[in-house]
Amino acid sequence: MNVAELLRRGISGEKLDLLERLGRTAEASGERLYLVGGAVRDLMIGGRGPDLDLVLQGDAVRFAGDAASALGFGFDRHPAFGTATILPGGDFRMDIATARREAYAKPGALPDVVPDIIEADLQRRDFTINAMALCLLPSGFGEIVDPFGGADDLKKKFLRVLHDGSFVDDPTRILRGIRFSGRLNFSFDERTEKLIREALARRVFDTVSGARIKKEMKMIFEEHERGRVVTHLRAFGIGNSILPGFEFSLDLFKVADLVREAAFELSGGIGEGEVEPWLAGFAAAAAGNSPPVLEELAERLGATGKESEVLTAAGGSFFKELAKSLGHKNLKPSQVASALDGLPIEVILCCYAYGGDNERGKIRKYIKETRNVRLEVSGDELVSRGHNPSKRMGEAIGAVLRLKQDGLVGGKEAEIEAAENHLKEDC
Ligand code: ATP
Repeated sequence: MNVAELLRRGISGEKLDLLERLGRTAEASGERLYLVGGAVRDLMIGGRGPDLDLVLQGDAVRFAGDAASALGFGFDRHPAFGTATILPGGDFRMDIATARREAYAKPGALPDVVPDIIEADLQRRDFTINAMALCLLPSGFGEIVDPFGGADDLKKKFLRVLHDGSFVDDPTRILRGIRFSGRLNFSFDERTEKLIREALARRVFDTVSGARIKKEMKMIFEEHERGRVVTHLRAFGIGNSILPGFEFSLDLFKVADLVREAAFELSGGIGEGEVEPWLAGFAAAAAGNSPPVLEELAERLGATGKESEVLTAAGGSFFKELAKSLGHKNLKPSQVASALDGLPIEVILCCYAYGGDNERGKIRKYIKETRNVRLEVSGDELVSRGHNPSKRMGEAIGAVLRLKQDGLVGGKEAEIEAAENHLKEDC
C-alpha cells in the first residue's frame, strides 16, 4: 500500500519538505527512515496529529545531529534512549528514534536500547493501528509497513493488541486504548476486550505509579470526546481498578461541554493559563464520589496541592449545592464573591456548569467584574490619617470592598469616608 498522496495532502509544505529532505539524507547514507505511530494512523483516516515521530533503522542520534546541523536547526539528544529531537523552530519538533526491539533487564526497569529492524520496532507498540510505518526514502516514498494488519483494523474500526501479554506488560495501554476508542469511536476486538477484562481482574493497575496514571488522566480529559471516553471507563470499571471505591461519574456528560463553554464564555475574565481544562473535566467526572475516596485518589495519583483541592471539591454534591446557593434572587455581587473567593477556577467552572441561567449570570459577573475589583484605600492610608492598625481596621477595609463590589462606593475619597464611617460605627 502506498499513501504518498495522502501524505502530500495531509502535511503542510514546510514539514513535508523537511520529511523529504531527511528521507533523501537517510537513503544517501544507506539507512531507512520512517514516519511511525499516530501520524500514520491519522493520515490514513484523513486527519493529522500535531506530532511527527520518525524511526531510523540506524543510529538516530548521529543522523539527527548531522541533519540538524546541515539544515541549521536546533537539536536535542538522548543517547541513552537512542532518540533525538530536531527543533526547526517555533512549536514544531520532530522526534527521531533508533529502530529498536524491547529488552528489559528486569521487570519495571527502563528498557535497554537494542537496535533492530523497523518490524521489531513496530512489534513493541500498543495497538495494530499504531503499529504502522510509512517509508520516507525517495525509492519507496509513502510505502506502508504494516506487519499486524493495522490498515485493515482502521477500516473495521478495531483496536487490537499485538500480543496476549500486552496489558500485563504495560497496563497504561488499557487507558490509551479506551482513550482512542472514545476519540475515534472504535471498538476493541473480542480478544482484546477479553484481555483487558482479564488484566483488570488481576488488578494490574496496582503496580502502576500514580504519576503514570495521572499522565493518562490528563490526556483523557484533554480529549475532545472525553464524555464518550468516560462512558468506556465506566463500562470497564476503571475507577475501581485504579482505586477501590472510586467510580467515574456520567455527570461529565452533562457538564463536559458546559465546562468548555464556561471557560470560553468567561475567557475575558480568566487569565492566560489560569485554567487547567483537563482538571476541570476530571473533577466533573469525579463528582459524587465520597470526599475521603477523592482524598485517597488525589494521594494515589500524587496530585499537586491545587489538583487535590479541585478533586476533593468534587465530593458529594458540592458543585450542585454551590450552584444552588448562588440561586437566591437578591444575592449581591459581594455575597457571590464571598462564596467563590479563594476557590480554584476549575471548581468555579464546574459550579457554573451545574447552575441554571440565573446562577451562571452571577458567576459570569463575578469572574468578569467582581473578582477584579480593587480598593484604592489601604490600611497605610488609614494609619496616615491617625487610625491605629487593628482587626477593626481590617474589617472596615473588608466592608468597603463589599460596598465597592456592589457598586455603592467609587473613588478614593468615597472609600476613605466609607472606611472611617465604618470605624466610627464600630466604636
Ligand atoms: P496521540 O494522537 O494521542 O498523540 P499517538 O499514537 O501519537 O497518539 P503517542 O503517545 O505520541 O501517541 O505515542 C506514539 C506512538 O508510540 C504510538 O502511536 C504507539 O505506537 C507508541 N506507544 C506510545 N505509548 C505506548 C505504550 N504505552 N505501549 C506501546 N506503544 C506505545
